[in-house]
Amino acid sequence: ASKGNIAVLGSGLIGRSFAMLYASAGYMVKIYDISEDMLKDAMSYIEQRFTALQANGLLKGKLTAEEQLKLITVATDMRDCVESAFYVHECVPERLDLKKKVFGELDKLVKSDTILASSTSCIPASQFSEGLNLKNRCIVVHPIYPPYYAPLIELIPAPWTDADVSTRVKDLMEEVGSKPIVFKKEILGFGINRIQYAIIKVCWDLVEDDVLEPEDVEKILKNGLGMRYAFTGQFETMHMNGFGVTDNVDRYGPSIWAVLNDMKPVTELKSDSDTAKKIHDAMCRTFSTVDGLPEKRKWRDDRLMALAKLKKEM
Ligand code: NAD
Repeated sequence: ASKGNIAVLGSGLIGRSFAMLYASAGYMVKIYDISEDMLKDAMSYIEQRFTALQANGLLKGKLTAEEQLKLITVATDMRDCVESAFYVHECVPERLDLKKKVFGELDKLVKSDTILASSTSCIPASQFSEGLNLKNRCIVVHPIYPPYYAPLIELIPAPWTDADVSTRVKDLMEEVGSKPIVFKKEILGFGINRIQYAIIKVCWDLVEDDVLEPEDVEKILKNGLGMRYAFTGQFETMHMNGFGVTDNVDRYGPSIWAVLNDMKPVTELKSDSDTAKKIHDAMCRTFSTVDGLPEKRKWRDDRLMALAKLKKEM
């Protein structure tokens, strides 16, 4: 029996990844995009990834790659994509005007109990859903790229979102093997980007203040902190590093306070600054030229796939 239809709007990096996840649990998925080329590209990407995942024993769900692929179709008309869906997941570019436009159209096209999700990285649902008839059905469902390998999903309801929307989406995410967390209130940057942007600021300052070369800052994350974060979070690390969190704070609290006080005030990041140019040039030299980045993304996908496999086995 069919499990119901899911609509994905936008077939870019995020849309195609979610389509794969939903198909893995047996949902019929229709993807809509304004670009037919993107839809074609998405379908060939999905086919290729499903095959690679199956070969590596990492395909999610009980169905074969071929069966999952059959569940995914494309639509060049938005109404056709969304009309029979119980859940619509918007994955269009990150612009408030575009999110408002798409949700305004959805408001007219779907049944009143449809769930309307957005992948937005930074825009709280209250900003694009205010004024809609179905504003109580809207929620942010924010992944970390690539959602197929990194299971965390941030669920951020607006103040007016129905409670059953959060519950239903949480269940859906767990069903596809993701690990959702539900926010108690809206906050700028949600969780992932609030933490990531704090890291960007500190890394940037280490270069700007000529303490480290950019490639050495990278080593702190790749060879140091990142090794641990794949297995333990920040509070778990504090808990283990000493005799529990309170003991850790007794021991290290004063140093943490001193270092935090030593940080420079926040300034705007500028792409034409000497620091931006220095970091860009270093990354081109030590990591990849800009032209080489599509290849490098595949390289990252493969490594994340291997890490996901390791985490599953341990
Ligand atoms: P993308 O540029 O890769 O894909 C966007 C797709 O939307 C394109 O295929 C484009 O043709 C299509 N599109 C544009 N206008 C449309 C419309 N009106 N209707 C339907 N399709 C339309 O973008 P992405 O990286 O997949 O990002 C999508 C969303 O996910 C953004 O809000 C982004 O902030 C968020 N997000 C991205 C990442 C990431 O790392 N890329 C991570 C988490 C969340």
